Amino acid sequence: MHFLDQAKIYLKSGAGGPGAVSFRREKYVEYGGPDGGNGGKGGDIVFHAVAGLNTLIDFRYSQHFKAARGAHGMGKDRTGAGAPDLEIAVPVGTQILSEDKEEVLADFTEVGQRIVFMEGGIGGRGNASYKTSTNRAPRQHQQGMPGEEMWVWLRLKLLADVGLLGLPNAGKSTFINQVSNAQAKVGDYAFTTLVPKLGVVRHKNREFVIADIPGLIEGAAEGAGIGDRFLGHIERCRVLIHLIDIAGADPVEAMRIVEGELEAYGAGLADKPRLVALNKLDLADEELGRGFADELKAAGAAEVFNISGATGAGVDRLMDAVLAYLPDRTTTETKGSEVEDESDESRPDWSPFLKP
Ligand code: GDP
Ligand code: MG
Repeated sequence: MHFLDQAKIYLKSGAGGPGAVSFRREKYVEYGGPDGGNGGKGGDIVFHAVAGLNTLIDFRYSQHFKAARGAHGMGKDRTGAGAPDLEIAVPVGTQILSEDKEEVLADFTEVGQRIVFMEGGIGGRGNASYKTSTNRAPRQHQQGMPGEEMWVWLRLKLLADVGLLGLPNAGKSTFINQVSNAQAKVGDYAFTTLVPKLGVVRHKNREFVIADIPGLIEGAAEGAGIGDRFLGHIERCRVLIHLIDIAGADPVEAMRIVEGELEAYGAGLADKPRLVALNKLDLADEELGRGFADELKAAGAAEVFNISGATGAGVDRLMDAVLAYLPDRTTTETKGSEVEDESDESRPDWSPFLKP
């Protein structure tokens, strides 16, 4: 099973600028020849793959991408300026599919990969280019070529950047709900309740995918072949959050049990950086929380975050710490757009879905 994020977007490359009709006007020269320049080329639609983008969440807010049109040709044989390309940043792993989803039109597998997806229209000819020995004062000119337009689907397999660990009842599900609803403000970005449980978190203008790793481990143990499917998640994980129930029997023991499981699982899981979070702080007084935190540190935890997945207390600080482990966003801005199209029609069904 793959967890997919998808978004339907509209693309339009820029039309070419029209050619000019113009005649030379000079002092003492009566019938100046034609000097209308050609129109400029319209902007291309260009996709490029960047590091640090992990979901297609941004395409939920902006779905229409139109490159600017080329400028008019001008007198004195001046060609109109070409329009800038419209650059659209997508996460590595994104595929562009035709509107009917039958055809893969582009596949972004590496950071920096750049594809001119749709060419802008060429500019129209100005009247200067129609001059012949028999027609010395042509008024012909062309409009620019129109841009291309189409709807496409973007599709991305979601991979977890952050793994969530903890014994049963440590509060993993509650935590994912908390971070992907409250901080993430992803609204109806429905994450699945199937194993592994994934949530998309948006924190401080960054977004990342968080997954319930014990779910992955259990799933992997269920049968041959399933494990491989989860390895992608595990490889991708930059950091693990280990939730420990403050109301559980013995926090230090709980930490050791899970660490033992990580070692046993292999696949490099035990080598990932771990953030230990003492959870359900709302059930205990602060002093007890501090005492347990000290015990966990004494037992090897680098830093302990006291949180409550239920109330959200302490969660922001933990998310700040997570960000430090994620790759920096490079260029994520989309440049060169002509029209800010806020139109809300045809809102895509873009929520992650499960596909066999
Ligand atoms: P999971 O098994 O690790 O996914 O844990 P769940 O999220 O299902 O939580 C197990 C139980 O602990 C549920 O009854 C939750 O309501 C409760 N729980 C989870 N987080 C908190 C918390 O921060 N505070 C309190 N008081 N209860 C919590
Ligand atoms: Mg659960």
